[in-house]
Order: sequence, then structure tokens, then C-alpha cells
Amino acid sequence: MRFVEREKLQTCVHCGLCLAACPTYLELGLEADSPRGRIYLMRALEEGEVEPTPEVVRHLDLCLGCRACETACPSGVEYGALIEAARPWVERFRPAPARWARRALARLLTAPVVGRAAVAAHLAARIPGLGGLARRRGSAWLAYAASIPRRRPARLPEVLEPDGRPRGTAVLVTGCIAEALFGETNVATALLLRRAGVRVVVPRGAVCCGALPMHLGDAAHTRRLARRAAEVLSVTGADWVVTNAAGCGALLREYADLLPGEPLAATVAARARDALELLAELGMPSAARPLSRTIAVHDPCHLAHAQGVRSQVRTLLAAVPGVRLVELEESDVCCGSAGTYNLTERAMARRLLQRKIERIARSGAEVVAAANPGCILQMRAGVILHGLQVAVEHPVDLLAATHL
Ligand code: SF4
Ligand code: SF4
Repeated sequence: MRFVEREKLQTCVHCGLCLAACPTYLELGLEADSPRGRIYLMRALEEGEVEPTPEVVRHLDLCLGCRACETACPSGVEYGALIEAARPWVERFRPAPARWARRALARLLTAPVVGRAAVAAHLAARIPGLGGLARRRGSAWLAYAASIPRRRPARLPEVLEPDGRPRGTAVLVTGCIAEALFGETNVATALLLRRAGVRVVVPRGAVCCGALPMHLGDAAHTRRLARRAAEVLSVTGADWVVTNAAGCGALLREYADLLPGEPLAATVAARARDALELLAELGMPSAARPLSRTIAVHDPCHLAHAQGVRSQVRTLLAAVPGVRLVELEESDVCCGSAGTYNLTERAMARRLLQRKIERIARSGAEVVAAANPGCILQMRAGVILHGLQVAVEHPVDLLAATHL
């Protein structure tokens, strides 16, 4: 075995039913940039029939890891596991500068310094006219800066006792970059859970689950972070490990495979829940105030395809008086954010963002609800660059505005 068991690759029967679901195939129309084509390549790599040339690695790099192909596949091919096994393996065949740059990015994004730099990011987002400047210059970087929330919230207490009848205990995964940039959404998540009768435990300090280095093929760093996170999150007596970031939730559910034979990791994997999934399961009390908005739901890949959470978001929003849900065409096609993809594959990320923005404009929505911080930043940047009058918000923040 080079990087994965051959049986996993052989599950693919080459039917091609996944092709129409694959964002890179939709954009490029090339077999090698489709799920089936990439599985062919991985199989040939595994069997030593092709070498990991720059061209072969390029086709794998262009994969978003969105797992839309898994949803579409009738044969149960675990594509996510295949590409996650292939990525660390191909790292060693990159030219050294590229390999070091990717490793440095993986370490930087998960370093505590990011939390401190976020203060500057919040301040930069307040610069008047930043969005207009981004649009005039066509600068994605300025648009991202203008998309960051403008303030940091107060710190949550270590424990929030539930309102009313206790329904269980949740450990909140505050995240690394998510906590630094979207701390308000973490506060809203904790308060909504408390409102639903959940006792919420908030671990001190940033807890990085390891999802970002995983995208960059840095398996060793991912395991290191996951092991540390599992120690912090496997709180005795907790019923759920809850996150509002789809990418984190998807990896938490995989901890048992990532760290086989490690009981703490298995505990976290078994308890992992998306915040909206849990709120829908427990049921929210009636909204305290209406929200007169037309809302379209974007389904983050790692929520819809990796965790199977879709209807819960719509059910919760539809229950708020005044909310009108509208259809978003291709709601579960990747927006181009995909973890670190919009940093490493900027051209394709921009193409997919353009595709998403066109569909948002056609939907007639005033608000796009997206349950993943990376998607929010990406689509907010797209909205700014295209001058659309559409807000992009986390569903948790929309619910907090009506329930708290
Ligand atoms: S994970 Fe996404 S981008 Fe990659 S092959 Fe599957 S559908 Fe295509
Ligand atoms: S991954 Fe699934 S849907 Fe795609 S070609 Fe293989 S068997 Fe068919």
C-alpha cells in the first residue's frame, strides 16, 4: 500500500454519475478534473502505473475536497477518505519551496499569532469605503478584509447554565480562525444552545481541530492538533461536541479514523454535532421577534455532503415569523472557499465564486444564510466585488437576532 487500501479505490465502477456534481468538472469539462478521473489517477498512482508528475498532482490539487461526488455516488465511494489519504502522500513529490510554503501556511493559520492579528483585521474592516475601494480595484484581498466582522465580542464564561429544563451538556468548539474572526457567532451559538435548554461548556483558549492543515496535506500537524483538541473536548459528562463551522464539524466526526485506537478521539467523533443540527433536534422556543427578510440558504460542502445536514437549517429559519425562504440554484455547489483553497487555487476559487454570485443575484434573496465562516467570507467578498445588495450571514446569527 502506498497511501490507501486498493479496495477503497476499486469501489468506483466508473459510472460517471458523479461528474455533474463536481464543481471543477462543471467549470472545466475535463475528465481528469472530475471525481472519476481523479480516482483513476489515484488508482494508477497506488498501483505504480503513473508517477506523481506535476501534471498529475495538479489535477489532485484542483480538487476542492467538497465531497459533492460522495453525495452523488450510488456505489458508496468514500472519495473524501481517498483524497485525504492522497494529499499527504503527494506532498513529498512537490518541489521543496512549494512543499515548505504549504507547510508554513498550515502552521501559520493554526498558530496563536492569528488570534492576535485578528484584532488588526477587525480594525481594518472598519476603514470607511473599504468595500467600494475593493470593488473599484477588483481586489479580492480588500474585499475579504471588508468582509470581516467589525468587532470582537466579550469573552464567554466557562460554563453557561441552561434556561429551563436541562436537556444535556454541550462542549462548544470555538475554533482557531473562526474564534478570532467570528467570535460573535460563537457567542450567539452558546446563547441559543442555552435557550434550548443546553448546559454549555466553553474550553479556554483556541481549540484548532486540524481541518485547515488537512486541506494542505499536512497530516502530521493535523494529527497533533486533533490529539490536543480531543483532550480538551472530551469533557466528562458532555453529551455533545458542538461547532458552528462546517469544516470543523466534518473533521471532528472523522477523529476515530484520523487517530485510530485513541479513545478520546473516538469519544469526540461520536459526540460531534453541528450547532444547527442540534438546535433543530432539540427544538427552539418560539422566536421573540419576527425577521422580515427573504433568505436563500447556501449549503456548505462540509455540512451538506460531509455531514448530511441540510433540512435542519431551513426548518429553523422557516419557523421564524416573517422569513421567506427562496430557492438558491446549485445551493450545494462549492463557493470556492473550501478551507484553504481560495488561498492556494485562487483562479478556480474566483470562477466558482462568480458562479455562486450569479445564482445569488438570480435568487432574489436579501440575505444568504451560510453555516460556515469560510463560505461567509468568500461570498461576502463576492457580493462586495459585484456590488450586490445582499447580506451573507451565519444562520446562527439570524436566529440569535430573533430568539435572544
Ligand atoms: S471532492 Fe468536489 S471537487 Fe473533488 S472530485 Fe469530488 S466533487 Fe469534484
Ligand atoms: S465515484 Fe461513484 S458515481 Fe463517480 S464514477 Fe465512481 S462509482 Fe460512479
